[in-house]
Amino acid sequence: MNAQHGIRFSIVVPLYNEAASLTSLYVRLTQVMSTLEGRYEIIFVNDGSRDETPRLLDEIYGSDSRVKVITLRRNFGQTAALKAGFDAAWGDVVISMDGDLQHEPEQIPAFVSKLEEGYDVVSGWRADRQDNWFSRRLPSKIANWTMAKLARVPLHDFGTTFKAYRREIIQGIQLYGDLHRFIPALAAGSGARIAEIPISNPPRANGKSNYGISRAFRVLLDLLSTKFLLDYSTRPLHFLGFFALLLTGTGTLMGSVVILKKLIFHQSVMLQNGPLLFGATLFTLAGLQLLGLGLVSEILSRTYYESQKKPIYTTRQIQSHVRELTRLTTGAGGLRIGNRRSMPRPEYVVETPRTKGVASLDGAA
Ligand code: UDP
Ligand code: MG
Repeated sequence: MNAQHGIRFSIVVPLYNEAASLTSLYVRLTQVMSTLEGRYEIIFVNDGSRDETPRLLDEIYGSDSRVKVITLRRNFGQTAALKAGFDAAWGDVVISMDGDLQHEPEQIPAFVSKLEEGYDVVSGWRADRQDNWFSRRLPSKIANWTMAKLARVPLHDFGTTFKAYRREIIQGIQLYGDLHRFIPALAAGSGARIAEIPISNPPRANGKSNYGISRAFRVLLDLLSTKFLLDYSTRPLHFLGFFALLLTGTGTLMGSVVILKKLIFHQSVMLQNGPLLFGATLFTLAGLQLLGLGLVSEILSRTYYESQKKPIYTTRQIQSHVRELTRLTTGAGGLRIGNRRSMPRPEYVVETPRTKGVASLDGAA
């Protein structure tokens, strides 16, 4: 698609009540992008802002044909807003950043040159972070450390949205919940080459952050589901089955002890071996339940992959002297790949045009 538009860079910026910084961000973006070789587009995603953001966006859209504006019907959250922007991106390189000027447009060229070294994802690292230590930096440190260990991707900072990707990588990843933090982990799961560069992280100039300490718990849960998706989405029974066998085994062992005691020592099952019997029943039942759950998950996983013709592998390149073969899927996204028509419904809804062509994606370029 990009070949005919000739767009090299897409900058995706989600905006939720960012009127105070929007104009300055836009000006700085255009200044920086004009220094880079190749055409670019700026995709602003208005995530249900209730301030002046929509009016400013209308103004910018009206005066610059390189700008696309996507207006979501309500506030869907940063992850969905980002995904809406990624879906609409035409550039070979997609750069995502925050709209509150905590990410400095002047650092985009550094991302680009790193990507050109042959990486698929370049992630920003807030080496010198300014946020509150207890509510933001400590939970983030713990989450990043755990994520790096679990996903086996040695990054310092998963959380920042200041990143650059090759388009096929980012469009191949399906994002749910707050999963945008785990894009590097998800991308690594499909074999992407990932690099990290330090970025500055000035404090928010206007307004205040949309997140607080409560985010830590959601990140923790996302960590769990990401790890599970990455390692076991094609074989859930290997995960659940392990615990199922452990529990059933323990239960059976305890039950056998009760029976032996009854047969050999003529002990009363209920009166003398109550706790053991209780344990035997509990463990066996719990184990069988887990086993059932594991089998159901296996079926679900097959539905998940087969209904969408989703391959369980990703290819970087296919070299063949036979033409047919090269038409096989190349691209990214072990968790979401291929046939775009069979994509699940997106998590966001795009606003229908209010004025002339505001939401029209094709009219922008
Ligand atoms: N954002 C959004 N939808 C939301 C919350 C935030 O699009 O529901 C955008 C916000 O406008 C900003 C970026 O996501 O561009 C990061 O948000 P914020 O600065 O509040 O997060 P922090 O930098 O504190 O992590
Ligand atoms: Mg911010």
